[in-house]
Amino acid sequence: MNAPTKHILIRNARCVATFDDNSAEFPNSDVLISGNRIHSIGRDLAAPEGATIIDASGKLCLPGFVNCHHHLFQTLTRGVPLVQNAELFEWLTNLYEIWREITPEVVHVAALVGLGELLLTGCTTSSDHLYLFPRASDGRLIDAEIRAARELGIRFHPTRGCMTRGKSRGGLPPDDVVQTDEEILADAERLIAAYHDPSPDSMLRIALAPCSPFSVDESTMTELAALARRHGLRLHTHLAETRDENAYCEEMYGMRPVDWAEKVGWLGPDVWFAHAVHISPEEIARFAESGTGVSHCPASNMRLGSGIAPVPAMLKAGVPVGLGVDGSASNDTSDLWGEARNAMLLHRVEGGAAAIDARTCLRMATRGGAAVLGHELAGRIAPGSLADVILIDLEKIGFAGAAHDPVAAILFAGDSHIVDTNIVNGEIVVENGRLTRALEEHIVRTANETAAEMVKTATKKTGIDFLSFPKQPS
Ligand SMILES: [Zn+2]
Repeated sequence: MNAPTKHILIRNARCVATFDDNSAEFPNSDVLISGNRIHSIGRDLAAPEGATIIDASGKLCLPGFVNCHHHLFQTLTRGVPLVQNAELFEWLTNLYEIWREITPEVVHVAALVGLGELLLTGCTTSSDHLYLFPRASDGRLIDAEIRAARELGIRFHPTRGCMTRGKSRGGLPPDDVVQTDEEILADAERLIAAYHDPSPDSMLRIALAPCSPFSVDESTMTELAALARRHGLRLHTHLAETRDENAYCEEMYGMRPVDWAEKVGWLGPDVWFAHAVHISPEEIARFAESGTGVSHCPASNMRLGSGIAPVPAMLKAGVPVGLGVDGSASNDTSDLWGEARNAMLLHRVEGGAAAIDARTCLRMATRGGAAVLGHELAGRIAPGSLADVILIDLEKIGFAGAAHDPVAAILFAGDSHIVDTNIVNGEIVVENGRLTRALEEHIVRTANETAAEMVKTATKKTGIDFLSFPKQPS
């Protein structure tokens, strides 16, 4: 006999902001969840027998946020002193020396930290980009982060990343963290068979994701694209993140990153790029025409001084744009809600106060991200959509005085990004601002011990003092 359908009635939310096709917002309304789908939205909805009832008075109800770009393994190297003021290439070459130490156990605890923080700050779906597979590890690193995602209950889109061009062949990474095309393709096939679920309410979809133009060969790009298209998977990579990368592509390939992506078959509705900071109006038009998506990562771009991505122009042209926290070592948080605020502020620096508004940024964080990941039933609250819903308590001192517009309030005001409630696939995974399925104190303790151990080992092997501050602002 099938288990009876579980119901959750969210009662009397201050406002339900749906981000549906009409951008409807319902003040003082209820949301009924049946199983893993939204059943209905309205006033005074009847509670089905046995329903869990959540009193949402004073709370804003939103679709959960969608994170389109991350490197969970970097969570344990947040704010490393040696590279606090370094730009991307210098930042990478130093941190590779610590990341060489990652193992399935390290990835598991790093993923618990990153995914736990994402859930607490309102994310219900996250992708991840794991591209570094040290020879010394057993290679089962994606499996370890999938285990963490399942333990916490987040909808997960891990991408099988890779690097093939080590230092000895003109790339940036050490040779012992790169792999051959054959090794990568075989492991990708293994992961697809073991985990990929293409169904509309999938909790786990695999995508394929070579690291960047400066760390893989052209053959890796074309072979992975062919494999992805055989299985109906999405493709992801970093592109046009920094001026250094554009210069590298001009020198190595004789063309700009977007031209190179097109040459290797990487423009299309099944592709999304992280960053796209240094792209021209003509390249934006090619993204729009091909349906190529972008994950905008404002905190990372500010943190590494990479530049300002032309997001308002991309949105105007019709490019699918979502938001990404990027790795926790280039942002130092896994807070997608914070990224929506950062996006709003960053584009005003360049384009003035009317360059972008709060709802546009929240739409990128929800519906926009769901479109970029191809999860069509996520990112909105509408009958039949996935029951991925968050509640934010507006009756906190940080929101006092901002009740004129309870939706925009969460980007303009607030002193914390911890949500009250997070529901993923019809399951409550954050309640009263705490994870329901894991002990946060245990995760924190294990993460700090593991992080200290990795730095110690890397220092012993390389002689580099990662805890020193050699580069001061001039
Ligand atoms: Zn990244």
